[in-house]
Amino acid sequence: MYYINPSVMNIEACSEKKQVYFKNLKFYIHTFGCQMNENDSERIGGILAKEGAQKSNSLENSDLIIVNTCAVRQKSEEKLFSFLGRLTRMKKNKNLIIGVVGCVAQLHQAQLLEKNSAVDFVLGPDNYRGLNQVILKHFGEKFMAIRWSRQWKEIPPEHVLRESDISALVTIMEGCDNFCSYCIVPFTRGREKFRPFPNIIKEVKHLADNGYKEIQLLGQNVNSYRDSFSGKDFSALLRDVNSIPGIEWIRFITSHPKNFTLDIALAMKEGEKICPQLHLPLQSGSSSVLRRMNRGYTREDYLEKIKLLRDLMPDISLSTDIIVGFPGETEKEFQETLKILEEVRYTNIFSFRYSPRPLTSALGMTDDVPFEVKKRRLIEVQQLQKNLQLEKNKSMIGRVIKVLCLGKSKKNPQIFSGRNQGYQVVNFKSPKDLTGEFTPVLITSCGPHSLQGETANHS
Ligand code: SAM
Ligand code: SF4
Repeated sequence: MYYINPSVMNIEACSEKKQVYFKNLKFYIHTFGCQMNENDSERIGGILAKEGAQKSNSLENSDLIIVNTCAVRQKSEEKLFSFLGRLTRMKKNKNLIIGVVGCVAQLHQAQLLEKNSAVDFVLGPDNYRGLNQVILKHFGEKFMAIRWSRQWKEIPPEHVLRESDISALVTIMEGCDNFCSYCIVPFTRGREKFRPFPNIIKEVKHLADNGYKEIQLLGQNVNSYRDSFSGKDFSALLRDVNSIPGIEWIRFITSHPKNFTLDIALAMKEGEKICPQLHLPLQSGSSSVLRRMNRGYTREDYLEKIKLLRDLMPDISLSTDIIVGFPGETEKEFQETLKILEEVRYTNIFSFRYSPRPLTSALGMTDDVPFEVKKRRLIEVQQLQKNLQLEKNKSMIGRVIKVLCLGKSKKNPQIFSGRNQGYQVVNFKSPKDLTGEFTPVLITSCGPHSLQGETANHS
């Protein structure tokens, strides 16, 4: 086993030694949070791999462990600290570099280095690019980098170490200017900044040339995308990406209802590769709660956009995010959320109990919905949605749908798993391995969270 030796650290000037150092370095990245974090981890992995470091699949087998963090809810922070406890115990028995990066790193900065002496470095979401230099320069000393930059920091597509070779994440913007009253993201990821249009196109072409079948464009609010040089907006981006040969399915996340325009809906309808699927976070079905959340739309505005989408794309698959127990949420306001779930009939939802976060304006409101009530409301939302999903999924039994096979099912290696255009999980039997291929699947049964079936034909 190779252990990192501090004596090799004065090596920045000597590229040969630098090569040896990185060549012997095994790293592991543990990711908490959303797809943006997953893509950041892929980029961080790429920065290290470019220098020759090797990605390890086990914590125990690694010299460098990077924890990419999420600060959206208190619970995600708690999970991080319990994970760091485990790493601290590991570090007692071996030489190990531990780095904490991402939103909690930005939020707790120096505190993190003090709070957990096992942590060697802390990097905010805008400070990954110099990671290799930083590791070399500061070995043996604790350090942090948390500076914001207004400029986009490009990591060339060929340096991204991707988890999948079928479906790729492509970040198009970072940060957020919306300041929803409950949300910490504008404080951890900073203000909006947009990736230059040509860089996005270049990455998608690179992915197409490398056999990728699906891409997901990512950002906290992709609908507000605007290229600062050409002025091209998100719908223009969708149209241009749609015209790149090779990529067959295009998705994007997240959309903000207030910035979702008719032109984006038209680009979706017209773009034959753009999946008729949209994640449109509602948060609450009550206009008064939405106002307190500073969401910038009412229940009626939201429903109007849903109508527009369904008029244009009757089979569109919709998903959403819901927060229950926001400060002051009355039973009547909560019932409006349940009503909207019945009305819209989402394919899937992500639902959360309100979690008070530092720096947010909702922190100044009284968190007056008792924990037990929040808990009960969350159960009610999830139970209702489960029934609605089951009903929706049952209506698909007997239909043949197109599925992108993503590999063997993790739970049962005898069957394959993939997604349909609506982003539903489809587990299916197939006499041959169809990983990376599109295949027609006959749906034979379902649960609330997935569809099951068998290949309808196979050539
Ligand atoms: N930018 C996206 C949007 O506007 O929908 C989502 C960003 S956030 C990482 C993902 C989801 O976490 C939000 O849509 C919201 O439902 C939930 N969330 C954010 N802050 C929260 C909080 N303080 N308590 C509970 N849920 C929260
Ligand atoms: Fe947070 Fe609102 Fe920005 Fe989404 S749009 S990241 S919920 S502030």
